Amino acid sequence: MSASAPITQDVLTIPRKLPDGPTNIVGLTRDQLRAALIAAGTPEKQAKMRVNQIWQWVYHWGARSFDEMTNLAKGYRAQLAEQFVIEVPEVVSRHVSADGTRKYLVRIAGGHEVEVVYIPETDRGTLCISSQVGCTLTCSFCHTGTQKLVRNLTAGEIVGQVMVARDDLGEWPEPGEGTGENGPRLLSNIVLMGMGEPLYNFDNVRDAMKIAMDPEGISLSRRRITLSTSGVVPEIARTAEEIGCMLAISFHATEDQTRDKLVPINKRWPIADLLDALRAYPKLSNSERITFEYVMLKDVNDTDEDARRLVKLIKGIPAKINLIPFNEWPGAPYERSDWDRIEKFADIIYKAGYASPIRTPRGEDIMAACGQLKSATERARKSRAQIAAEAGLSE
Ligand code: SAH
Ligand code: SF4
Repeated sequence: MSASAPITQDVLTIPRKLPDGPTNIVGLTRDQLRAALIAAGTPEKQAKMRVNQIWQWVYHWGARSFDEMTNLAKGYRAQLAEQFVIEVPEVVSRHVSADGTRKYLVRIAGGHEVEVVYIPETDRGTLCISSQVGCTLTCSFCHTGTQKLVRNLTAGEIVGQVMVARDDLGEWPEPGEGTGENGPRLLSNIVLMGMGEPLYNFDNVRDAMKIAMDPEGISLSRRRITLSTSGVVPEIARTAEEIGCMLAISFHATEDQTRDKLVPINKRWPIADLLDALRAYPKLSNSERITFEYVMLKDVNDTDEDARRLVKLIKGIPAKINLIPFNEWPGAPYERSDWDRIEKFADIIYKAGYASPIRTPRGEDIMAACGQLKSATERARKSRAQIAAEAGLSE
């Protein structure tokens, strides 16, 4: 690790409990819920059972009011309703693409908005969720990176994105109608690939994903959750130990000089340090493979030489390489590599023995593709001059 000063995260997470206001149940860990119930007058002896009951109502059945919790006494339900709420982000708009991709704009406390994207495929349905409003990092090809960080999302706002998508998909089981546990799920996978750097909001991301994995609730396997990071090296081992989900790395370049420009966090944790941390990950997390994301930028990182270097660098790491055709945005200083270049690059990687899928851009007609989130909405509201100024580019 380099010896430069740590990147500090001067970020406020909105307190879960407003002064004298009710506490939101959504986003509390089991331990936090237990403590909150006891503080609200639940006898300690009953607390564990009450946690289980409330947990099931909220995360298994999708209940949003205490009235629905019919296995709790009426008086206790009224007591809960006085001190707690069950709140998820508010859906402000919903767009459905010609290819079935759904994009939701959701509003969170403080009036901020983040985008959530649902991508249906034949064998799965993936929800792309955000961890921050904006981002502190400034990757030069990413539109989110041109927006300042506004704040970290709370654990409730993170898992709440999953809950609003399940609402829209109608995926909460109906009481008495079985749980749908064994059937295919519409929302079967989560990727933390929306706005923000998840490892700079570690605790909230961990708590939210633990809730999504809990077998008494949403119950998604840790193998169906993928966290994408730009390479916050010191948090990678913690991700394995405390979350255990699948890991994706925004790799994007095979030489430090280029990666410094594309993913500036590389100046702090260069490629060699990142690879060291990745070599330990699959063992620590018991996960199969790491996904290397590689955005294809014309004449920047897309030569045959790059492909060969990439294969050499990751040797020994169980990996798959996900090639992402660059999604252009107005004022972006890059272009998407030509299709035959991308295929040639993929071929070299494939012949070296790695899966090298090219990520098909989805939901392009509704601006739902990677790196376009929220910025699309912002763009609709801002003038070109403003965008250019924020991107540090002159018109
Ligand atoms: N901050 C995290 C996760 C969010 S970005 C990270 O950087 O990994 C999710 C993925 O989209 C990353 O691999 C990112 O590099 C990629 N991405 C960002 N902007 C893009 C764009 N304009 N075109 C294609 N991919 C982009
Ligand atoms: Fe932030 Fe990821 Fe975009 Fe980089 S690519 S600016 S880390 S959201």
